[in-house]
Amino acid sequence: METSIVWFRRDLRLTDLPTLLSAADMSARAVALFVLDDRLLRSAGAVRRTFLYRCLRELDDALKGSLVVVEGDPADLVPKVASAVGANSVHVSADFGPYGARRDAAVRKGLGDVDLVETGSPYAVAPGRVRKDDGTPYKVFTPFRRAWYDHGWRAPAKTDASTLKWLAPDDIEGRIQVPDDEDLGTTELPAAGEAAALEQWQSFVANDLTRYDGERNRADLDSTSRMSVYLKYGCVHPRTLLADVRGEDASSATLRSELAWRDFYADVLHHNPRSARHNLDKKFDRIDYNTGAAADEAFEAWREGRTGFPIVDAGMRQLRAQGWMHNRVRMITASFLTKDLHLPWWRGAQHFMDLLVDGDLASNQHGWQWTAGTGTDAAPYFRVFNPTTQGEKFDPDGEYVRRWIPELREVDGKAVHTLKAGRPNGYPEPIVDHKEERLEALARYEQIKAR
Ligand code: FAD
Repeated sequence: METSIVWFRRDLRLTDLPTLLSAADMSARAVALFVLDDRLLRSAGAVRRTFLYRCLRELDDALKGSLVVVEGDPADLVPKVASAVGANSVHVSADFGPYGARRDAAVRKGLGDVDLVETGSPYAVAPGRVRKDDGTPYKVFTPFRRAWYDHGWRAPAKTDASTLKWLAPDDIEGRIQVPDDEDLGTTELPAAGEAAALEQWQSFVANDLTRYDGERNRADLDSTSRMSVYLKYGCVHPRTLLADVRGEDASSATLRSELAWRDFYADVLHHNPRSARHNLDKKFDRIDYNTGAAADEAFEAWREGRTGFPIVDAGMRQLRAQGWMHNRVRMITASFLTKDLHLPWWRGAQHFMDLLVDGDLASNQHGWQWTAGTGTDAAPYFRVFNPTTQGEKFDPDGEYVRRWIPELREVDGKAVHTLKAGRPNGYPEPIVDHKEERLEALARYEQIKAR
């Protein structure tokens, strides 16, 4: 009787999982495998590692204790497990990230005659599929989104884990228990796993979807879906979400569009793996950044949420407390780091990747580049967010700031953004003058244009 391996990576769920179908096509028995890859674990940060472990425990429960977890290099371990269980095929959803693609090529080589079967991907439309008429990739979001809609996506796959008999031999070399949670201090994470993802999504659709278009930019209202962390780990697939937002109403259309951004950035990274670390627009390689002790001190103040700009500090403190930050505030804090403090986007992006529970290389690095003005289309370099007016607009009663900055809890209403009557409880003075730094950012931009 043939045996398959279902190798879970960014697809920690059992429903709408095409790899189960492909495994069942080839065999009646399967091993559910997860490899704790040292290299990915090192780059994840305690918050994402812990969330991953929790998702793995949920998956193991759903598989009635049959999840086989090993730790090390997949190029070495996947062929070893395949040989230990006599597998004829290994089933994965395709990984299009720069590291994932290299790793899978190495695993394929190590597997020799055992097939590595790729079915599906973590995206509605896999990177590389949506192209212009001349075959080249899109560089601008709006036409990409149009072509993405035209391309379309599959309906959710109906999958049932009980169609396979799950083997979980104890004697697999290197098999370990899912590690314990790490010390997260005061950071509180959302519930992990597929059941939690579906519950959160269904609650959002029932209670909040209709107000999504009007309110999603409001930092003070909890009106976004909070699906990013579940999409990151594949506790839910985007096509499951898309199937519920087919309507012509503004909120459904906006949510579809946000999911298109996720696919777009994965596509951009697929075609430009260097953009994870380097400016997509090379002319910005020549821009001057602040360096030295004063720049490092400013970076620390930003990281710790003590810049003296309430909306920026509230965002940075939310990031530490929840491993998540509201999208509008991600843009405001990123703009502040790059345009007010004149620091390179990749320093801020690294800090986000250290703390975000939804930290995703494609969305994070390109979200940063978009805000810094060095990436795809949208925000031109000379668009500099004013942190005070952004605060007044997207946190109109000051609720968000008061929630995350205890020093300011006694300041009423939107006065919390301007603090004209003073800075209570030791809340710091602004570390820079926004008007001056805006002009400085524009001057640096003019210099590279002139060179
Ligand atoms: P919703 O508003 O409910 O959106 C639904 C889904 O659409 C999200 O879960 C996400 O998958 C997708 N989406 C929404 N906006 C974007 C966007 N701008 N780019 C890509 N996908 C989007 N998103 C991440 O998933 N991981 C990151 O590491 C990340 N880093 C970011 C860094 C910066 C500087 C910026 C400006 C944005 C970043 N984003 C990132 C995008 C966005 O902020 C989050 O996806 C969103 O805040 C997640 O909350 P939600 O699920 O409630 O979003």
